Amino acid sequence: MKPYLKRAWAEIDLSRLRKNAEVIRSLIQPETEIMAVVKADAYGHGYERIVRTLTEDCGVRYFAVSNLDEALAVRELAPEAEILILGYTPPEYAHEISENNIIQGVISSEYAAALTRNSPSPVRCHVKIDTGMGRIGLRHDTPAECADEIAEMVKMEKLSVEGIYTHFAVADSDDPDNMEYTEKQESFIIGVRDELKVRRIELEHCHFMNSAATCYRCSPESTLSRAGIILYGLHPDISLPIPEGLAPVMAVKAVISHVKNVRPGDCISYGRTFTADREMRIATVTVGYADGYSRLLSGRGEILVHGKRCRITGRVCMDQLMIDVTDVPQAAPGDIVTLIGSDGSECITADELAGIYGTIGYEVVCGISKRVPRIYFDR
Ligand SMILES: *Cc1c(COP(=O)(O)O)cnc(C)c1O
Repeated sequence: MKPYLKRAWAEIDLSRLRKNAEVIRSLIQPETEIMAVVKADAYGHGYERIVRTLTEDCGVRYFAVSNLDEALAVRELAPEAEILILGYTPPEYAHEISENNIIQGVISSEYAAALTRNSPSPVRCHVKIDTGMGRIGLRHDTPAECADEIAEMVKMEKLSVEGIYTHFAVADSDDPDNMEYTEKQESFIIGVRDELKVRRIELEHCHFMNSAATCYRCSPESTLSRAGIILYGLHPDISLPIPEGLAPVMAVKAVISHVKNVRPGDCISYGRTFTADREMRIATVTVGYADGYSRLLSGRGEILVHGKRCRITGRVCMDQLMIDVTDVPQAAPGDIVTLIGSDGSECITADELAGIYGTIGYEVVCGISKRVPRIYFDR
């Protein structure tokens, strides 16, 4: 048996991760490289094994993270990798960026200047252009104006501008208006690249593909595919199918701790939101909202027990919840149940839970809490 308390745990299937990386590789041009997005502890999958597998087994050389702490953690595991920080690093940490050979996303000339003031050696960077996401980055009416500002940055001592990039807001939509919006974002960033060429500035990188763009509008103009969610086998948007062969890497399991019969009129859990209207069998499961299995699932979510869907009865508690196992007579204490993943012919995806929460699969996997150990499988 594994050296962990068998209560609630996440199973991470590294062979699926490798397969997903292979599928992504088949979608993109041979000269495009995967930049594996491993921010937020690799979308809740545990960055250590994910980064190791991607570098050692899949030959991935580029990683993207959200902050300096994550970048330093990846650097320890992958001394040769190129690591891009997508988010903000306070300029006073610039020396740590350069000492660890990390690439910073730079969002304005003021920020670039602040970085260079705080570092004794050159800081490598990719300049972020805001072409329509409205979050961070250089924002101008024309590509030429962006190129002018970047040309000034290129002249800065102690700044090494190696690329430009942008982020799409609606690449996961097949609505014609949204598709046109993405088209405009793409033309803009390519325009900036071309305007830089006119100014005799040839950068190694120009990248704009996230998972959705990699699946639905793959372009040879993007030197990197910043693949996040599809690496973990989930949908950028649940309404659009993802390429064949991509499959979820994470499953979440727990066990039944207690089974009992209840009579009509008996209440289950806090707030008495569930009252049995007949003889029922109720099982208690060792998972709750402190594990990232949200209270929003109270009375609505389902859990797989011996391959059958069982409804949550009443409220999800902090560490436990109850389910209706009336139709699964063999359910017994110690049985393993599936919160996310498949059992027999049934499957519950993170996206299904997201539908109940009113969010996206990204938030479901990122939200599986620290208390839930990640157990790694390699088939
Ligand atoms: C998170 C992020 C990505 C990855 O997005 P996915 O939809 O998970 O592929 C790519 N680029 C930037 C700038 C991001 O913040």
